[in-house]
Amino acid sequence: MTDYDDNNIFAKILRGEIPNDTVYEDEYVLAFNDINPLAPVHILVIPKGKYVSMTDFSIKAPATEIEALYRAIGKIVTDKGLDKKGYRVIANTGEHGGQEVPHYHIHIIGGEKIGSLRP
Ligand code: AMP
Repeated sequence: MTDYDDNNIFAKILRGEIPNDTVYEDEYVLAFNDINPLAPVHILVIPKGKYVSMTDFSIKAPATEIEALYRAIGKIVTDKGLDKKGYRVIANTGEHGGQEVPHYHIHIIGGEKIGSLRP
């Protein structure tokens, strides 16, 4: 696993150096609209702690931070009404997973029928 890079774009967002379109925030979690949305709703949910990936977060994060992230997702999807028709959650991880930003993030994608994962 690579070391955390303090210069990644989400670290800059968390430090307030780059603006974001915040959807939800609490002590442990920030969620904001993706700058390049793939669907009518495309939200990124990130822990405020310095975790590179799903692997890093699931192994190292304390239970309070893990719970906060999942509770935040539940709040966001119900607030946005996505729970009614459904949505997709993705955590691209590492090179094979196509992860571009090395700060753990979960994509919430919805607002329309999302196509199959298979091309
Ligand atoms: P991933 O490929 O899973 O690492 O996804 C990174 C996501 O971050 C992409 O969907 C980008 O559109 C999104 N993104 C990159 N920079 C920003 C930004 N400044 N604000 C919001 N979303 C961003």
